[in-house]
Amino acid sequence: MHHMTIAIDGPAGSGKSTVAQELAERLGLLYLDTGAMYRAVAWLALQRGVSPQDSSSIVQLMRKSPIHLERTEQGNVEIWVGSNNVTRELRTPEVSNAVSAVSAHPDVRSELTTLQRELSSQHPVVMDGRDIGTVVLPHATVKVFLTASLEERAKRRRREFIESGFSSATEQVAAELAKRDEQDSSRTVAPLKPAQDAHRIDSTGKSVDEVVLEIMTIVEQTLSWRQ
Ligand code: C5P
Repeated sequence: MHHMTIAIDGPAGSGKSTVAQELAERLGLLYLDTGAMYRAVAWLALQRGVSPQDSSSIVQLMRKSPIHLERTEQGNVEIWVGSNNVTRELRTPEVSNAVSAVSAHPDVRSELTTLQRELSSQHPVVMDGRDIGTVVLPHATVKVFLTASLEERAKRRRREFIESGFSSATEQVAAELAKRDEQDSSRTVAPLKPAQDAHRIDSTGKSVDEVVLEIMTIVEQTLSWRQ
C-alpha cells in the first residue's frame, strides 16, 4: 500500500509553493519544495565560481557537498548544502537567474530526482516543482498543474521580492519569469508541462484559500473513487 503523494507543477510564480505548503499543513503531509533543491545547486555553483553550464563540475560539487533536508522544531523543512544552511539564500536574483541553466543538466536532475523519490517513499508528501507529475512521481495520488496569467505571477513575485528587501519593476520581473518558463519548457529532459492526468487549475484572481479548497475537493473525490 503506497501512502498519499500530491504533485503540484506549474510555471514560476503560479502560487505553487504557497498553495502546496498550506495544503500539506491542512492534510498533515510533509511539504517538499523541489525548486528549492535546484536553487541550492545553483547557489553551490555560484558560491564556488563554477559556470552554471558546466555540468560535470556541478555534479562533482554536489557529491562533495550533498544537499539534504532537516526539519526544524516548528516542523519547517530547511535546506542544507554540505554544512551550510542555505534556506534563506535561495531566492536572490542571482540564484533565480542561474537556476534554469543548472536544472537543464540531465546528471543534476538525476541526482535530485533520486533524492526526491527517496523522500516521498519515506513520508506522505505534497511536492511542488516542474516535473513531479510527469517524471518524479508518475503514480502520484493527485496531480495538479497550477497556472496564472503572467501579469498576476509577476505581481506576486514582485511582492515577495519587496518583502525580502529587493525591489524591481513589475515589467522586469515579468520578463525574467517569462524567460525562465521558456527555458524550463523547452529543455529536453523533464520539461515543464502538465501530466496527461493532471487537474489544471488557473489561480488568476483566486485566493490561496480558494485554490487549496479546490485541491482538497479533488483529493477527497479521488480517495472516494478508489474505495
Ligand atoms: O519553483 P522555483 O521557481 O523555485 O524553481 C526554480 C527553478 O528550478 C525552476 O525555474 C526550474 O528551472 C527548476 N526546477 C526544475 N524542476 C523542478 C523544480 C524546479 O527544473 N521539479
